[in-house]
Amino acid sequence: MNVYADMRPITVSDLMKPDAIAVIGASEDPGKFGGRILHSLLKQGFKGELYPINPARDTVLGYKSYHSIAEIPAPVDLAIMAIPREHVLQSVSACGDAGVKAVIVVTAGFSEADEEGARLEQALVQCARKKNMRIIGPNCIGIISPANEFVLCPTPVLLERTALRGHIGLVSQSGAIMGTTVDRGTSQNIGFSHCISVGNQADLDLCDFVDFLVDDPSTHVICTYIEGIKRAERFRAAALRCQQAGKPWLIMKAGRTAAGAAAAFSHTASLATNQVVLEGICDQYGIVLMDDMEAMLLAATGLVRYPGMAVRSVAVLSPSGGGCTVAADRLTDQSVPLSRFTADTEAVLAPLFSGAVRNPVDIGAANDGASMSHTEAIHRAVLADDQVDLALTVITAAPDITRFAAMAGQAIQASSKPSLTVLLPGDAASGARAELMKSGMVCTNTLDTALRALSAWRAWTERPDIDQPVRPAGLAVSMPPVAHQLNEHQVKNALTAYGIRVNSGLPVDTPEHAFTVAKTLKAPYVVKIISEDISHKTEAGGVALGLVDADAVEHAARSMQARIRAQLPDAKIDGFLVQEFARGELELVMGLKKDDQFGINIMVGAGGILAELLNDVVVAPCPLSPAAAERMLTRLKITPLFDGIRGGEALDVAAVADTLVRLSWLGHDWRDRLLELDINPVMVMQRASGCVAVDGRALLNELT
Ligand code: ADP
Ligand code: MG
Repeated sequence: MNVYADMRPITVSDLMKPDAIAVIGASEDPGKFGGRILHSLLKQGFKGELYPINPARDTVLGYKSYHSIAEIPAPVDLAIMAIPREHVLQSVSACGDAGVKAVIVVTAGFSEADEEGARLEQALVQCARKKNMRIIGPNCIGIISPANEFVLCPTPVLLERTALRGHIGLVSQSGAIMGTTVDRGTSQNIGFSHCISVGNQADLDLCDFVDFLVDDPSTHVICTYIEGIKRAERFRAAALRCQQAGKPWLIMKAGRTAAGAAAAFSHTASLATNQVVLEGICDQYGIVLMDDMEAMLLAATGLVRYPGMAVRSVAVLSPSGGGCTVAADRLTDQSVPLSRFTADTEAVLAPLFSGAVRNPVDIGAANDGASMSHTEAIHRAVLADDQVDLALTVITAAPDITRFAAMAGQAIQASSKPSLTVLLPGDAASGARAELMKSGMVCTNTLDTALRALSAWRAWTERPDIDQPVRPAGLAVSMPPVAHQLNEHQVKNALTAYGIRVNSGLPVDTPEHAFTVAKTLKAPYVVKIISEDISHKTEAGGVALGLVDADAVEHAARSMQARIRAQLPDAKIDGFLVQEFARGELELVMGLKKDDQFGINIMVGAGGILAELLNDVVVAPCPLSPAAAERMLTRLKITPLFDGIRGGEALDVAAVADTLVRLSWLGHDWRDRLLELDINPVMVMQRASGCVAVDGRALLNELT
């Protein structure tokens, strides 16, 4: 009989508030894992029952030491072990028999290491499932929970200090990044609710903890360090819950590059997640994707302190003109507008300066610049201005910057308006730094970090509403053809069925037939080769453009045939495509592609010569809502071209967005078979004139 069968499943919240903890491999030596775990736990002020386990000792740090988990006379909620790999399974099993709810396995050398490790990891999970117990890790460093006053974590950073309590929840695939983030936060007076290192995520995964943090009232902002996403559906579900709760989720995603992805694999056995696909998913759910830990912490601090406050425009304040200038440049680079002060603000500021005051405000240029005694008043006036959403104070070297910082700090503290302070000097700003820390300000040492944080902040406050894509009226579901590879004509047939415009044309067998078909179409014409063996027609000399009449069409087909026969004798020629020439203002590429993790995605990008130059591509999951399609287009670098090229009419963006929506439904309907589909190019015409697909190819799964 399985004695565990009737037990209630253990949830993450059951283990995040432990009344009794066992430390397996407890030690007094802070040089050892078991020693650091114990020291940090005591330092953080854990008030529950503590059971050190060390078969070689009777007491550890004054606590009775047990020889095994079975000896402990009372229930244990959470156990942590940092013991050699070969003992882990047996120890986990003993924990299960003792009724422990969850075990943190710090030990490394499992699926990230070798096949034997992977097998052992599986065995751990099976054992835990059988005994109704949960596992965190292996290959993790456990939990730091200032909110619930316990630390079960061997990080060296908590030996000398305790983690501060605050509202940032952190889940990290890397223990080192978690320790580093907590240390960085603590050094800057930034507090955390719960921090969890998930390692290989053999049982409980990152999303399980994100779910917990979404429901946790002490967590206001969720930060995660991710190397690879384990289960795409779980990730989507957690993202949706975050959105519904209105809680920001910031992700620092590592392993963007091939080298990074390889490192992530050997670190936490994470499989690479396609970066552009992830960007699309994050955009859809309002998740903020970042790639810098310090900026993530700064953004989170801002979002905790000023929840939901939008930043459309910014005022810059600095003790120097230089500080103003560099900040203005960097904001402009990021398309963050500088606020225009109201007449009221100008009236308050004018007497303090010799001339008119503009944003950025060079406080050093105030009338008695040397003492900068107006710093507080100037900050107050700027922060009170309705046109200012955020004050960016950029401190450069200047006489008396400690006082400057203290005065700025007072004004910032007194205001509910968001602010961000950058301390550019090194040691010269130590006093200023200490002043700002005292007032619990949101500050950093580099403009780069400040701007990354600002852009994350804006991404959150400007996130789109989540919308459920609705199938366009009258759009029937079609079945994909049996073929494995679809040529231009076959793809265009599919596009037509989805209401996507293509240029008129027909396949023909012979050059003579091409002549006849041309007579039924509108000049000028285009002739293309049809061959399964040729996917890039231009390269093979298989595209003839701008043919004026049917004679030219027949001639082009004939010489194309001769040329390809001569140059590519193995290519089987299946005929020609005779079509109408399409004129457009701009060429785009569109496509569908199956991602192993996230399924079918749609892509749009700059086409033609711009494609190689700009590498300008945006990806989103299928199907798309009209709003999501429009958003994709605004994310492209070439977006400004839609407003008109060389002073010309604006282009038909609405038609492009509609085409994307329709294509995304094709992707959705064919999701079980489609591998990829390209339309290169889609010609975009002027407003109200539409857009038209002039090429196409697709690959489908072989039918089994
Ligand atoms: P491939 O990509 O296989 O080389 P395409 O059918 O895309 O062949 O043709 C190559 C280029 O010729 C396109 O990128 C486009 O610029 C132009 N082109 C192709 N078909 C037409 C058409 N019907 N009207 C206008 N231009 C066309
Ligand atoms: Mg093409």
